[in-house]
Amino acid sequence: MIRNPLRSIKASTHRPWQTPVAPDAVRYDCRERTGRDVKLTFCGAAETVTGSCHLVEISGLKILLDCGLFQGGRDRSDRNREPFPFDPREIDAVLLSHAHLDHAGRLPLLVQRGFAGRIYCTTPTAEIAKLMLADSAHLQMEEASYRARKAKRRGETAEPPLYDMDDVLRCAALFRPINGYGEDLHLSDRISATFHDAGHILGSAAIELKTPDGNVLFSGDLGNRHQPIVRDPSAPPRADVVLVESTYGNRRHRSMEDTVSEFQEAIDTVIPNDGNLLIPTFALERAQEVLYELFVLWRNGNLPRCRIYLDSPLAISTTRVFARHENYFDEEGQALFSSHPNPFDFTPLRYSQTTDESKEINRASRGNIIIAGSGMCTGGRIIHHLRHNLWHEGSGILFVGYQAVGTLGRRIVEGADHVRIFGEEIRVASRVWTANGFSSHADQPILLDWIRQADPEHLILVHGEDDTLEAFAQIIESDQGRRPHIAQHGETLDL
Ligand code: ZN
Repeated sequence: MIRNPLRSIKASTHRPWQTPVAPDAVRYDCRERTGRDVKLTFCGAAETVTGSCHLVEISGLKILLDCGLFQGGRDRSDRNREPFPFDPREIDAVLLSHAHLDHAGRLPLLVQRGFAGRIYCTTPTAEIAKLMLADSAHLQMEEASYRARKAKRRGETAEPPLYDMDDVLRCAALFRPINGYGEDLHLSDRISATFHDAGHILGSAAIELKTPDGNVLFSGDLGNRHQPIVRDPSAPPRADVVLVESTYGNRRHRSMEDTVSEFQEAIDTVIPNDGNLLIPTFALERAQEVLYELFVLWRNGNLPRCRIYLDSPLAISTTRVFARHENYFDEEGQALFSSHPNPFDFTPLRYSQTTDESKEINRASRGNIIIAGSGMCTGGRIIHHLRHNLWHEGSGILFVGYQAVGTLGRRIVEGADHVRIFGEEIRVASRVWTANGFSSHADQPILLDWIRQADPEHLILVHGEDDTLEAFAQIIESDQGRRPHIAQHGETLDL
Protein backbone atom coordinates (compact mmCIF):
# COMPACT_ATOMS: atom_id res chain seq x y z
CA MET A 1 0.00 0.00 0.00
CA ILE A 2 1.38 3.42 -0.90
CA ARG A 3 1.38 5.61 2.19
CA ASN A 4 1.21 8.89 0.30
CA PRO A 5 2.70 9.41 -3.14
CA LEU A 6 2.09 13.14 -2.93
CA ARG A 7 4.30 13.97 -0.02
CA SER A 8 7.40 14.40 -2.19
CA ILE A 9 5.61 16.10 -5.10
CA LYS A 10 5.74 19.82 -5.14
CA ALA A 11 7.84 20.63 -8.23
CA SER A 12 6.23 21.42 -11.57
CA THR A 13 6.90 19.17 -13.86
CA HIS A 14 -3.72 6.94 -40.68
CA ARG A 15 -7.10 7.26 -40.77
CA PRO A 16 -9.07 8.64 -43.78
CA TRP A 17 -9.78 12.22 -43.05
CA GLN A 18 -13.50 12.80 -43.06
CA THR A 19 -15.00 15.41 -45.32
CA PRO A 20 -16.52 18.25 -43.34
CA VAL A 21 -20.16 19.03 -43.90
CA ALA A 22 -21.14 22.69 -43.86
CA PRO A 23 -24.25 23.28 -41.74
CA ASP A 24 -27.17 25.16 -43.17
CA ALA A 25 -26.67 28.73 -42.15
CA VAL A 26 -29.51 29.95 -39.97
CA ARG A 27 -29.80 33.65 -39.30
CA TYR A 28 -30.31 34.74 -35.72
CA ASP A 29 -33.35 36.95 -35.70
CA CYS A 30 -31.67 39.86 -33.97
CA ARG A 31 -33.23 43.26 -34.44
CA GLU A 32 -29.92 45.03 -34.50
CA ARG A 33 -26.82 43.42 -35.94
CA THR A 34 -23.74 44.35 -33.96
CA GLY A 35 -21.74 45.01 -37.12
CA ARG A 36 -18.86 43.33 -35.36
CA ASP A 37 -18.21 40.67 -37.95
CA VAL A 38 -18.71 37.80 -35.52
CA LYS A 39 -19.93 34.44 -36.79
CA LEU A 40 -20.82 31.67 -34.34
CA THR A 41 -21.53 28.03 -35.20
CA PHE A 42 -22.72 25.65 -32.48
CA CYS A 43 -21.09 22.25 -32.98
CA GLY A 44 -22.04 20.65 -29.63
CA ALA A 45 -23.65 21.35 -26.22
CA ALA A 46 -26.49 23.10 -28.04
CA GLU A 47 -29.89 21.72 -26.90
CA THR A 48 -27.94 19.23 -24.79
CA VAL A 49 -25.34 19.24 -21.98
CA THR A 50 -22.45 17.37 -23.58
CA GLY A 51 -20.16 17.77 -26.61
CA SER A 52 -19.33 21.44 -25.87
CA CYS A 53 -17.85 22.93 -29.07
CA HIS A 54 -18.47 26.36 -30.60
CA LEU A 55 -16.77 27.83 -33.68
CA VAL A 56 -16.12 31.57 -33.59
CA GLU A 57 -15.10 33.26 -36.84
CA ILE A 58 -13.85 36.69 -35.96
CA SER A 59 -11.53 39.16 -37.71
CA GLY A 60 -10.15 36.53 -40.07
CA LEU A 61 -9.50 33.86 -37.41
CA LYS A 62 -11.32 30.57 -36.86
CA ILE A 63 -11.30 29.76 -33.16
CA LEU A 64 -12.88 26.79 -31.42
CA LEU A 65 -14.21 27.20 -27.90
CA ASP A 66 -13.88 23.67 -26.44
CA CYS A 67 -14.05 20.38 -28.31
CA GLY A 68 -15.93 18.00 -25.99
CA LEU A 69 -17.31 14.48 -26.22
CA PHE A 70 -21.01 13.74 -26.53
CA GLN A 71 -21.78 11.46 -23.58
CA GLY A 72 -24.67 9.49 -22.14
CA GLY A 73 -26.07 6.57 -24.09
CA ARG A 74 -25.27 5.15 -27.50
CA ASP A 75 -27.31 7.67 -29.54
CA ARG A 76 -25.36 10.57 -28.12
CA SER A 77 -21.94 8.96 -28.25
CA ASP A 78 -22.51 7.96 -31.91
CA ARG A 79 -22.55 11.68 -32.68
CA ASN A 80 -18.85 11.75 -31.84
CA ARG A 81 -18.12 9.84 -35.03
CA GLU A 82 -19.90 12.35 -37.27
CA PRO A 83 -17.72 14.76 -39.28
CA PHE A 84 -17.06 18.13 -37.69
CA PRO A 85 -19.12 20.87 -39.40
CA PHE A 86 -15.85 22.62 -40.33
CA ASP A 87 -12.47 21.66 -41.69
CA PRO A 88 -10.21 20.92 -38.66
CA ARG A 89 -7.17 21.95 -40.75
CA GLU A 90 -8.55 25.48 -40.99
CA ILE A 91 -8.94 26.03 -37.23
CA ASP A 92 -6.32 28.50 -35.98
CA ALA A 93 -6.58 27.72 -32.26
CA VAL A 94 -8.68 26.00 -29.62
CA LEU A 95 -9.44 27.84 -26.38
CA LEU A 96 -10.28 25.22 -23.77
CA SER A 97 -12.45 26.21 -20.81
CA HIS A 98 -11.66 23.20 -18.57
CA ALA A 99 -10.62 19.57 -18.46
CA HIS A 100 -13.96 17.71 -18.21
CA LEU A 101 -14.35 15.29 -21.12
CA ASP A 102 -17.60 16.85 -22.29
CA HIS A 103 -15.48 19.95 -23.01
CA ALA A 104 -12.10 18.45 -24.00
CA GLY A 105 -12.85 14.86 -25.04
CA ARG A 106 -12.93 15.29 -28.84
CA LEU A 107 -9.57 17.12 -29.00
CA PRO A 108 -7.60 13.98 -29.98
CA LEU A 109 -10.18 13.37 -32.73
CA LEU A 110 -9.73 16.94 -33.96
CA VAL A 111 -5.99 16.32 -34.19
CA GLN A 112 -6.53 12.95 -35.90
CA ARG A 113 -8.62 14.79 -38.53
CA GLY A 114 -6.03 17.42 -39.30
CA PHE A 115 -5.98 20.14 -36.62
CA ALA A 116 -2.41 21.33 -36.03
CA GLY A 117 -2.91 24.65 -34.21
CA ARG A 118 -2.45 25.42 -30.56
CA ILE A 119 -4.71 24.51 -27.62
CA TYR A 120 -4.71 27.31 -25.03
CA CYS A 121 -5.89 26.80 -21.45
CA THR A 122 -4.69 27.27 -17.86
CA THR A 123 -1.81 25.13 -16.59
CA PRO A 124 -3.98 22.90 -14.32
CA THR A 125 -6.42 22.38 -17.21
CA ALA A 126 -3.58 21.29 -19.52
CA GLU A 127 -2.23 18.83 -16.94
CA ILE A 128 -5.61 17.38 -15.97
CA ALA A 129 -6.89 17.25 -19.58
CA LYS A 130 -3.93 15.10 -20.63
CA LEU A 131 -4.75 12.61 -17.83
CA MET A 132 -8.45 12.57 -18.72
CA LEU A 133 -7.76 12.14 -22.46
CA ALA A 134 -5.31 9.29 -21.86
CA ASP A 135 -7.91 7.58 -19.65
CA SER A 136 -10.60 8.17 -22.30
CA ALA A 137 -8.38 6.67 -25.04
CA HIS A 138 -7.63 3.69 -22.82
CA LEU A 139 -11.35 3.01 -22.20
CA GLN A 140 -12.19 3.44 -25.88
CA MET A 141 -9.45 1.05 -26.96
CA GLU A 142 -10.67 -1.53 -24.40
CA GLU A 143 -14.27 -1.19 -25.59
CA ALA A 144 -13.21 -1.39 -29.25
CA SER A 145 -11.27 -4.59 -28.68
CA TYR A 146 -14.29 -6.08 -26.83
CA ARG A 147 -16.56 -5.09 -29.76
CA ALA A 148 -14.00 -6.50 -32.23
CA ARG A 149 -13.94 -9.90 -30.46
CA LYS A 150 -17.74 -10.13 -30.49
CA ALA A 151 -17.98 -8.97 -34.12
CA LYS A 152 -15.38 -11.52 -35.19
CA ARG A 153 -17.51 -14.35 -33.81
CA ARG A 154 -20.36 -13.08 -36.01
CA GLY A 155 -18.00 -12.88 -39.01
CA GLU A 156 -18.24 -9.09 -38.99
CA THR A 157 -15.87 -6.22 -38.26
CA ALA A 158 -16.38 -3.64 -35.53
CA GLU A 159 -15.76 0.09 -35.48
CA PRO A 160 -12.26 1.13 -34.38
CA PRO A 161 -11.85 3.28 -31.25
CA LEU A 162 -12.74 6.93 -31.74
CA TYR A 163 -9.07 7.70 -31.05
CA ASP A 164 -6.11 5.94 -29.54
CA MET A 165 -3.10 6.80 -27.37
CA ASP A 166 -1.08 8.03 -30.39
CA ASP A 167 -3.77 10.61 -31.11
CA VAL A 168 -3.71 11.68 -27.45
CA LEU A 169 0.08 12.09 -27.51
CA ARG A 170 -0.06 14.20 -30.69
CA CYS A 171 -2.84 16.25 -29.12
CA ALA A 172 -0.92 16.67 -25.83
CA ALA A 173 1.98 18.23 -27.77
CA LEU A 174 -0.31 21.07 -28.93
CA PHE A 175 -1.27 22.31 -25.45
CA ARG A 176 0.04 25.77 -24.58
CA PRO A 177 -0.73 26.85 -20.99
CA ILE A 178 -1.56 30.55 -20.62
CA ASN A 179 0.15 32.79 -18.07
CA GLY A 180 -2.87 32.87 -15.78
CA TYR A 181 -6.29 34.36 -15.19
CA GLY A 182 -6.72 37.98 -16.30
CA GLU A 183 -3.66 37.95 -18.61
CA ASP A 184 -4.04 38.87 -22.29
CA LEU A 185 -3.17 36.16 -24.80
CA HIS A 186 -2.55 37.67 -28.26
CA LEU A 187 -4.00 35.51 -31.01
CA SER A 188 -3.42 38.11 -33.78
CA ASP A 189 -2.73 41.82 -33.97
CA ARG A 190 -6.51 42.43 -33.65
CA ILE A 191 -7.64 39.65 -31.30
CA SER A 192 -6.68 38.67 -27.81
CA ALA A 193 -8.19 36.24 -25.31
CA THR A 194 -8.48 36.55 -21.54
CA PHE A 195 -9.33 33.65 -19.21
CA HIS A 196 -11.42 34.45 -16.11
CA ASP A 197 -11.81 32.07 -13.15
CA ALA A 198 -15.07 30.15 -13.62
CA GLY A 199 -14.85 28.50 -10.17
CA HIS A 200 -16.14 25.18 -11.59
CA ILE A 201 -13.15 22.83 -11.19
CA LEU A 202 -9.43 23.48 -10.72
CA GLY A 203 -8.16 25.65 -13.60
CA SER A 204 -11.60 26.21 -15.15
CA ALA A 205 -12.21 29.41 -17.08
CA ALA A 206 -14.74 31.63 -18.75
CA ILE A 207 -13.11 32.87 -21.94
CA GLU A 208 -13.27 36.40 -23.30
CA LEU A 209 -12.34 37.16 -26.91
CA LYS A 210 -11.48 40.83 -27.39
CA THR A 211 -11.40 42.72 -30.68
CA PRO A 212 -11.21 46.47 -31.30
CA ASP A 213 -14.94 46.30 -32.20
CA GLY A 214 -16.19 44.48 -29.09
CA ASN A 215 -15.91 41.27 -27.16
CA VAL A 216 -17.40 37.78 -27.01
CA LEU A 217 -17.61 35.97 -23.66
CA PHE A 218 -18.03 32.21 -23.26
CA SER A 219 -18.93 31.04 -19.74
CA GLY A 220 -17.57 27.47 -20.06
CA ASP A 221 -19.09 25.72 -17.03
CA LEU A 222 -19.65 28.15 -14.16
CA GLY A 223 -19.09 26.98 -10.61
CA ASN A 224 -21.10 27.05 -7.43
CA ARG A 225 -20.23 29.37 -4.53
CA HIS A 226 -18.58 28.24 -1.27
CA GLN A 227 -17.29 24.94 -2.63
CA PRO A 228 -14.18 23.42 -1.06
CA ILE A 229 -10.82 24.15 -2.76
CA VAL A 230 -11.87 26.17 -5.85
CA ARG A 231 -12.60 29.88 -5.69
CA ASP A 232 -16.06 31.28 -6.33
CA PRO A 233 -16.66 32.23 -9.98
CA SER A 234 -15.07 35.62 -10.63
CA ALA A 235 -17.23 38.52 -11.82
CA PRO A 236 -17.34 38.53 -15.62
CA PRO A 237 -16.30 41.53 -17.72
CA ARG A 238 -19.02 43.41 -19.56
CA ALA A 239 -19.44 41.76 -22.93
CA ASP A 240 -21.22 42.38 -26.24
CA VAL A 241 -21.98 38.75 -27.04
CA VAL A 242 -22.31 36.12 -24.29
CA LEU A 243 -22.63 32.33 -24.55
CA VAL A 244 -23.74 31.06 -21.16
CA GLU A 245 -24.16 27.51 -19.86
CA SER A 246 -27.63 26.60 -18.55
CA THR A 247 -27.14 23.22 -16.83
CA TYR A 248 -28.98 24.23 -13.63
CA GLY A 249 -30.81 27.26 -15.02
CA ASN A 250 -34.02 26.00 -13.37
CA ARG A 251 -32.70 24.88 -9.99
CA ARG A 252 -31.44 26.07 -6.61
CA HIS A 253 -28.82 24.02 -4.79
CA ARG A 254 -29.09 22.61 -1.29
CA SER A 255 -26.69 24.01 1.27
CA MET A 256 -23.35 22.44 2.11
CA GLU A 257 -24.35 22.18 5.81
CA ASP A 258 -26.85 19.41 4.96
CA THR A 259 -24.08 17.57 3.15
CA VAL A 260 -21.68 17.72 6.09
CA SER A 261 -24.46 16.34 8.33
CA GLU A 262 -25.06 13.48 5.87
CA PHE A 263 -21.33 12.66 5.98
CA GLN A 264 -21.32 12.68 9.76
CA GLU A 265 -24.44 10.52 10.05
CA ALA A 266 -23.18 7.96 7.52
CA ILE A 267 -19.77 7.74 9.20
CA ASP A 268 -21.20 7.50 12.75
CA THR A 269 -23.65 4.78 11.69
CA VAL A 270 -21.28 2.61 9.66
CA ILE A 271 -17.71 2.87 10.96
CA PRO A 272 -18.22 2.07 14.70
CA ASN A 273 -20.24 -1.01 13.66
CA ASP A 274 -17.40 -2.43 11.61
CA GLY A 275 -19.07 -1.69 8.31
CA ASN A 276 -17.30 -0.24 5.29
CA LEU A 277 -18.56 3.08 3.97
CA LEU A 278 -18.27 3.28 0.15
CA ILE A 279 -18.18 6.68 -1.53
CA PRO A 280 -18.54 6.37 -5.33
CA THR A 281 -17.01 9.49 -6.86
CA PHE A 282 -15.64 11.11 -9.99
CA ALA A 283 -11.84 11.28 -10.11
CA LEU A 284 -11.70 14.98 -10.88
CA GLU A 285 -12.68 17.59 -8.30
CA ARG A 286 -15.32 15.61 -6.38
CA ALA A 287 -12.73 13.10 -5.08
CA GLN A 288 -10.56 15.97 -3.84
CA GLU A 289 -13.58 17.72 -2.28
CA VAL A 290 -14.53 14.52 -0.44
CA LEU A 291 -10.97 14.25 0.94
CA TYR A 292 -11.25 17.88 2.03
CA GLU A 293 -14.50 17.26 3.97
CA LEU A 294 -13.16 14.07 5.56
CA PHE A 295 -9.99 15.91 6.60
CA VAL A 296 -12.05 18.64 8.29
CA LEU A 297 -14.04 15.99 10.21
CA TRP A 298 -10.79 14.26 11.24
CA ARG A 299 -9.11 17.51 12.30
CA ASN A 300 -12.15 18.43 14.42
CA GLY A 301 -12.10 15.04 16.13
CA ASN A 302 -15.33 13.90 14.44
CA LEU A 303 -13.93 10.93 12.54
CA PRO A 304 -13.86 7.59 14.39
CA ARG A 305 -10.67 5.55 14.12
CA CYS A 306 -10.61 4.13 10.56
CA ARG A 307 -8.68 4.13 7.31
CA ILE A 308 -9.67 6.17 4.28
CA TYR A 309 -8.72 4.56 0.97
CA LEU A 310 -8.58 6.61 -2.22
CA ASP A 311 -8.81 3.62 -4.56
CA SER A 312 -8.52 5.14 -8.03
CA PRO A 313 -5.34 5.62 -10.09
CA LEU A 314 -6.98 8.47 -12.05
CA ALA A 315 -8.11 10.25 -8.87
CA ILE A 316 -4.61 9.85 -7.41
CA SER A 317 -3.00 11.34 -10.56
CA THR A 318 -5.52 14.19 -10.54
CA THR A 319 -4.87 14.81 -6.83
CA ARG A 320 -1.15 15.13 -7.69
CA VAL A 321 -2.01 17.94 -10.12
CA PHE A 322 -4.07 19.66 -7.41
CA ALA A 323 -1.15 19.40 -4.99
CA ARG A 324 1.10 21.21 -7.49
CA HIS A 325 -1.27 24.14 -7.96
CA GLU A 326 -2.29 25.38 -4.55
CA ASN A 327 -2.08 28.93 -5.93
CA TYR A 328 -5.35 28.18 -7.76
CA PHE A 329 -7.14 27.31 -4.47
CA ASP A 330 -9.39 29.73 -2.60
CA GLU A 331 -8.04 31.50 0.49
CA GLU A 332 -9.36 28.90 2.93
CA GLY A 333 -7.93 26.08 0.82
CA GLN A 334 -4.51 27.76 0.56
CA ALA A 335 -4.41 28.21 4.34
CA LEU A 336 -5.36 24.57 4.92
CA PHE A 337 -2.81 23.24 2.44
CA SER A 338 0.03 25.47 3.63
CA SER A 339 0.71 23.12 6.53
CA HIS A 340 0.87 19.43 7.31
CA PRO A 341 -1.30 17.46 7.86
CA ASN A 342 -3.64 18.60 5.09
CA PRO A 343 -6.53 17.08 3.08
CA PHE A 344 -4.17 15.18 0.76
CA ASP A 345 -1.90 13.93 3.52
CA PHE A 346 -3.35 13.05 6.92
CA THR A 347 -3.00 10.00 9.16
CA PRO A 348 -5.96 7.78 8.09
CA LEU A 349 -5.54 8.42 4.33
CA ARG A 350 -4.13 5.67 2.10
CA TYR A 351 -3.61 5.87 -1.67
CA SER A 352 -4.34 2.61 -3.45
CA GLN A 353 -2.73 2.56 -6.89
CA THR A 354 -2.32 -1.03 -8.11
CA THR A 355 -4.92 -3.78 -8.59
CA ASP A 356 -3.30 -5.83 -5.83
CA GLU A 357 -3.51 -2.88 -3.43
CA SER A 358 -7.16 -2.47 -4.35
CA LYS A 359 -7.93 -6.16 -3.69
CA GLU A 360 -6.12 -5.94 -0.37
CA ILE A 361 -8.67 -3.38 0.92
CA ASN A 362 -11.47 -5.95 1.20
CA ARG A 363 -9.15 -8.50 2.81
CA ALA A 364 -8.03 -6.03 5.47
CA SER A 365 -9.94 -5.00 8.58
CA ARG A 366 -13.48 -3.64 8.22
CA GLY A 367 -14.77 -0.30 9.44
CA ASN A 368 -13.10 1.80 6.74
CA ILE A 369 -14.01 4.44 4.17
CA ILE A 370 -13.44 3.54 0.52
CA ILE A 371 -13.50 6.25 -2.15
CA ALA A 372 -13.51 4.86 -5.70
CA GLY A 373 -14.83 5.52 -9.22
CA SER A 374 -16.89 5.63 -11.21
CA GLY A 375 -19.18 8.20 -9.69
CA MET A 376 -22.37 6.55 -10.98
CA CYS A 377 -21.15 2.97 -10.44
CA THR A 378 -21.06 2.31 -14.19
CA GLY A 379 -17.56 0.76 -14.05
CA GLY A 380 -14.24 1.03 -12.26
CA ARG A 381 -13.12 -0.28 -8.89
CA ILE A 382 -16.27 0.75 -7.03
CA ILE A 383 -18.04 -2.23 -8.66
CA HIS A 384 -15.74 -4.69 -6.86
CA HIS A 385 -16.29 -2.90 -3.56
CA LEU A 386 -20.07 -2.98 -4.08
CA ARG A 387 -19.93 -6.72 -4.68
CA HIS A 388 -17.99 -7.19 -1.44
CA ASN A 389 -20.10 -4.84 0.70
CA LEU A 390 -23.64 -4.29 -0.63
CA TRP A 391 -25.05 -7.46 0.97
CA HIS A 392 -23.49 -6.59 4.33
CA GLU A 393 -26.03 -5.01 6.70
CA GLY A 394 -23.42 -3.01 8.56
CA SER A 395 -22.01 -1.35 5.44
CA GLY A 396 -23.10 1.88 3.81
CA ILE A 397 -22.93 3.78 0.54
CA LEU A 398 -22.71 7.53 0.49
CA PHE A 399 -23.55 9.07 -2.90
CA VAL A 400 -22.02 12.51 -3.47
CA GLY A 401 -23.06 13.17 -7.06
CA TYR A 402 -25.94 12.97 -9.49
CA GLN A 403 -26.97 9.43 -10.50
CA ALA A 404 -28.28 9.31 -14.08
CA VAL A 405 -31.24 7.14 -15.07
CA GLY A 406 -30.18 3.63 -16.08
CA THR A 407 -27.00 3.53 -13.96
CA LEU A 408 -26.30 1.06 -11.14
CA GLY A 409 -25.94 4.04 -8.80
CA ARG A 410 -29.47 5.20 -9.65
CA ARG A 411 -30.94 1.72 -9.04
CA ILE A 412 -29.34 1.61 -5.58
CA VAL A 413 -30.47 5.17 -4.72
CA GLU A 414 -34.02 4.27 -5.80
CA GLY A 415 -34.07 1.41 -3.31
CA ALA A 416 -33.56 -1.75 -5.41
CA ASP A 417 -33.42 -4.73 -3.04
CA HIS A 418 -31.21 -6.73 -5.44
CA VAL A 419 -28.81 -5.62 -8.18
CA ARG A 420 -26.82 -7.57 -10.75
CA ILE A 421 -23.03 -7.23 -10.57
CA PHE A 422 -20.71 -9.29 -12.84
CA GLY A 423 -23.66 -11.59 -13.60
CA GLU A 424 -24.38 -12.25 -9.92
CA GLU A 425 -27.52 -11.21 -8.01
CA ILE A 426 -26.46 -9.24 -4.94
CA ARG A 427 -28.82 -8.31 -2.11
CA VAL A 428 -28.75 -4.61 -1.19
CA ALA A 429 -28.63 -4.76 2.61
CA SER A 430 -26.36 -1.82 3.33
CA ARG A 431 -27.64 1.67 4.22
CA VAL A 432 -27.70 4.34 1.51
CA TRP A 433 -27.15 8.09 1.95
CA THR A 434 -27.16 10.85 -0.65
CA ALA A 435 -25.28 14.07 0.02
CA ASN A 436 -26.56 16.52 -2.57
CA GLY A 437 -24.77 19.68 -1.43
CA PHE A 438 -21.73 19.13 -3.64
CA SER A 439 -22.18 20.78 -6.98
CA SER A 440 -19.56 22.10 -9.34
CA HIS A 441 -22.24 23.97 -11.29
CA ALA A 442 -23.76 27.37 -10.69
CA ASP A 443 -27.46 27.30 -9.91
CA GLN A 444 -30.07 29.75 -11.16
CA PRO A 445 -29.33 32.70 -8.81
CA ILE A 446 -25.59 32.52 -9.58
CA LEU A 447 -26.19 32.28 -13.33
CA LEU A 448 -28.59 35.25 -13.26
CA ASP A 449 -26.06 37.37 -11.31
CA TRP A 450 -23.32 36.49 -13.75
CA ILE A 451 -25.48 37.41 -16.75
CA ARG A 452 -26.50 40.73 -15.13
CA GLN A 453 -22.83 41.61 -14.61
CA ALA A 454 -21.86 40.72 -18.19
CA ASP A 455 -24.86 42.75 -19.40
CA PRO A 456 -24.61 41.56 -23.02
CA GLU A 457 -26.24 42.94 -26.14
CA HIS A 458 -26.69 39.35 -27.37
CA LEU A 459 -27.25 36.53 -24.89
CA ILE A 460 -27.13 32.96 -26.16
CA LEU A 461 -27.96 29.91 -24.02
CA VAL A 462 -25.90 26.75 -24.50
CA HIS A 463 -25.18 23.59 -22.47
CA GLY A 464 -28.64 22.69 -21.17
CA GLU A 465 -31.37 20.09 -21.70
CA ASP A 466 -34.43 21.23 -23.68
CA ASP A 467 -36.87 21.81 -20.81
CA THR A 468 -34.22 23.54 -18.66
CA LEU A 469 -33.25 25.85 -21.54
CA GLU A 470 -36.85 26.92 -22.13
CA ALA A 471 -37.52 27.45 -18.41
CA PHE A 472 -34.28 29.40 -17.99
CA ALA A 473 -35.03 31.56 -21.07
CA GLN A 474 -38.40 32.51 -19.54
CA ILE A 475 -36.80 33.34 -16.18
CA ILE A 476 -34.20 35.57 -17.86
CA GLU A 477 -36.95 37.27 -19.85
CA SER A 478 -38.91 38.11 -16.70
CA ASP A 479 -35.74 39.07 -14.80
CA GLN A 480 -34.16 41.23 -17.47
CA GLY A 481 -36.95 42.09 -19.87
CA ARG A 482 -35.49 40.41 -22.95
CA ARG A 483 -35.51 36.90 -24.23
CA PRO A 484 -32.17 35.18 -24.87
CA HIS A 485 -31.51 33.05 -27.92
CA ILE A 486 -31.37 29.26 -27.39
CA ALA A 487 -28.54 27.90 -29.56
CA GLN A 488 -29.51 25.06 -31.91
CA HIS A 489 -27.13 22.31 -32.90
CA GLY A 490 -25.45 23.10 -36.25
CA GLU A 491 -26.87 26.63 -36.36
CA THR A 492 -24.75 29.57 -37.51
CA LEU A 493 -25.35 33.09 -36.22
CA ASP A 494 -24.03 36.13 -38.06
CA LEU A 495 -23.78 38.97 -35.57
ZN1 ZN B 1 -17.50 20.80 -16.45
